[in-house]
Amino acid sequence: TSTEIDDSVTLGEGIKAPPMVYIAGEEMTHYTSNLIVDQWIKPYFNVDAWEHFDLSCKARDDSDDKVLHDAVEAGSRIGAIFKEPTITPSTLQVKEMGLSKAFGSPNGAMRRGWNGITISRDTIHIEGIELGYKNPVFFERHAVGGEYGAGWNEVGQGTLLTTYLPDDGASPFVVDKRDLTDDHNVVVVYHNPYDNVAELAHLFFKRCLDAEITPYVVTKKTVFKWQEGFWETMKSIFDEHYKADFEKAGLLERSGGDLQHLISDAATMQLIRWTDGGFGMAAHNYDGDMLTDQIAQVHRSPGFITSNLVGRRDDGTLIKEFEASHGTVSDLWHDHLAGKETSLNPLGLVEAMIGAMQHAATLQAENNPSDESEIVKAKVFNYTETLRTAMHNTFRYGQGTRDMSGPSGFTTEDYIAKVAWRLQR
Ligand code: NAD
Repeated sequence: TSTEIDDSVTLGEGIKAPPMVYIAGEEMTHYTSNLIVDQWIKPYFNVDAWEHFDLSCKARDDSDDKVLHDAVEAGSRIGAIFKEPTITPSTLQVKEMGLSKAFGSPNGAMRRGWNGITISRDTIHIEGIELGYKNPVFFERHAVGGEYGAGWNEVGQGTLLTTYLPDDGASPFVVDKRDLTDDHNVVVVYHNPYDNVAELAHLFFKRCLDAEITPYVVTKKTVFKWQEGFWETMKSIFDEHYKADFEKAGLLERSGGDLQHLISDAATMQLIRWTDGGFGMAAHNYDGDMLTDQIAQVHRSPGFITSNLVGRRDDGTLIKEFEASHGTVSDLWHDHLAGKETSLNPLGLVEAMIGAMQHAATLQAENNPSDESEIVKAKVFNYTETLRTAMHNTFRYGQGTRDMSGPSGFTTEDYIAKVAWRLQR
């Protein structure tokens, strides 16, 4: 049993880290991730089994985006992925970087390629330190559909027809017909694929129940009538499988004894008022994008939020991709390039690395059951817990980054060096 396993990890031991996909991005978060892997991971683990993919704009351009397809393939095959933030180039960046075209978001390609169900975003808490929310806030963002995959065009006056052609050969019908009378219009078509909402519901309600927090479902269905189906699926899964357990745990008292629906604009206000935390929200893709950024601000910094994509391989195996919720932190990168001090909070990035390493170890132990893989799993879990404690203690001792500790806080490099020192003791 695991209690008999020696799970200690020592400097220079070179434990073989289980295979995972490591996706590199650019700018400040790439620079910081390199420092972290060099100072916090490589002294303890041999990472030769990590498969590396460089998703910088330049590498995507040089390979005509083959590198993105390769990364998606490797992610499906291995099932555990760590991803640094990447740049989705703006028109200006396409010019500045001399790219051959404006590459689309790699995140969208991954969410589709891995049959993305949900992007789970949760607040990170450090015991003894008050951040924005006192207790956990969980968010489940539908990983696919909506505005992100929209087809659109700029058109003049005329008629726009959106026609549905059923696969089963039934008669086509017009979903929408509208007369355009302006000289300048943007027309947009998108859809919300709803097959995996039931699965999102199970993941969400299970997570809320385990963490003893109250779930809410957020849509704008009062006005956007087509969103009713999201709520209906969530509510029916809740009623059938979870309501009794939530009631028993006393978790529905704050929401009037039932699963409550919140209109998305009302949710923006509650997120600012409910600073005690202790709740979860599930929403469509774009609402989830906006609301989780708001949570990040209320909770002090985007560095204190996790972001995990859960998808499913065609054979049913869960694929998990772990990333930070924030971007490449361009402003600090420009400061760094100008020789100024920076202070990047790496907690979201490192929670992602921890999540990916733990999931990789779990998959290895499941797929190749042996004493060896159980030992590696125990060591990975032990070490990553120690790493988390070392990071939190560094914050607790007033040596955190400046988003938390103010101007006296540590620089990006000093914080990493301090945690590395603490790990060696
Ligand atoms: P950003 O999240 O990088 O930064 C927003 C603001 O928050 C900045 O002021 C930044 O300094 C601060 N911030 C973010 N994370 C921080 C941290 N860990 N510690 C301290 N401060 C932090 O968003 P942006 O500036 O809008 O975008 C920059 C680039 O990132 C863009 O090119 C965009 O395409 C990309 N981006 C990528 C992803 C992703 O890969 N998942 C997500 C969002 C943005």
